[in-house]
Amino acid sequence: MVRILLKFSEKIVEQPITSQIILDLKVPINIITAHIDSKGGEILADVPEESMEKVVKAFRSKGATVSIPKLVEVDNEKCVSCGACVALCPVEAITLAEDFSIVFNKEKCVGSICSTCVDACPARAIKSAKQNHAELTNE
Ligand code: SF4
Ligand code: SF4
Repeated sequence: MVRILLKFSEKIVEQPITSQIILDLKVPINIITAHIDSKGGEILADVPEESMEKVVKAFRSKGATVSIPKLVEVDNEKCVSCGACVALCPVEAITLAEDFSIVFNKEKCVGSICSTCVDACPARAIKSAKQNHAELTNE
């Protein structure tokens, strides 16, 4: 699966774009988080790698912007095992191993729309990292 960030402007946010694309393309799009109000919306979703190109094209044709969200990278060398990131992560994407090293689960992390751990780390051991995906152009 590839994680993508969809943004909908005020003009199109009330349209059922995501459900229509799921039905039209018959692609299972897994919605991780969604923040939508009358001013616009943002959806973080996982899309099967083999369907990425057509999904991105479909969202863009309906006026949504599509990008690859930044995830985070943890540098265990810098980590002082304070546990702040573990306590603050809203989705339990970071845990402490028995040896007090950090275990990061990128499948759970919601990335740049959160970044709580990046701001909280006193040792600057966590940073945002851009994800690359060859088929996603015109970000
Ligand atoms: S960016 Fe947010 S979701 Fe991801 S590991 Fe950090 S606190 Fe957890
Ligand atoms: S906040 Fe930073 S120093 Fe503290 S446990 Fe997490 S990565 Fe390590």
